[in-house]
Amino acid sequence: MTFLFYTLVTIAAFLAMEFVAWFAHKHLMHGWLWNWHEDHHKPHEKTGFFEKNDRFFLVFAIPSATCYILGSVYAESLFFLFFIGVGISIYGLTYFLVHDVYIHRRFHWFKKLDNSYSRAILRAHGAHHSKQTKEDCESFGLLVVGKRYFGKRADRVAS
Ligand SMILES: [Zn+2]
Ligand SMILES: [Zn+2]
Repeated sequence: MTFLFYTLVTIAAFLAMEFVAWFAHKHLMHGWLWNWHEDHHKPHEKTGFFEKNDRFFLVFAIPSATCYILGSVYAESLFFLFFIGVGISIYGLTYFLVHDVYIHRRFHWFKKLDNSYSRAILRAHGAHHSKQTKEDCESFGLLVVGKRYFGKRADRVAS
C-alpha cells in the first residue's frame, strides 16, 4: 500500500510538472525571464553548446532539491515530499532527453526514434520555434501535444 502510494505521488508529480513547465515556459520564459530564454529561439551557431536558457535546468533543480531535503530530514509525515522530488527529477531527465537530445539533437542519440507521437512532438515544438520572438509563439508544452500536430509530416527543428 505504501509502495503504491509513493508510486502514485511520483507519477502525479511527474504529470504536474508538464503543467508547471508549460506555465513557466508561457508566462515566465516568454515573460519577464525572456532574457534567459531568448537565445534558445535564435540560430544555434550564435550560442555555442551552452545557452543562457540552460540556466533553467538549475532553476528547476531547486524545487526538487528542496523536496529531497524536506522529505528526508524532517518528520516522517513529510516523506512523500521525497517522492515529489523524484517525480520532478524524472520529468527533468525526460525533458532533457526529449527536448534537448531528441528534438534539438545536442547529442546524437535516439536518431531512429520515429512514430506518430514522436513526430507530433517534433511538429509541435517546431511550431513553437517557428518564431524567434517573445510574443506570438504557440505550443509551450512538451509531452502534451495538440491533436492538430498528429498525422502530418513533421520536420525536425533546425537549430
Ligand atoms: Zn520558447
Ligand atoms: Zn526548443
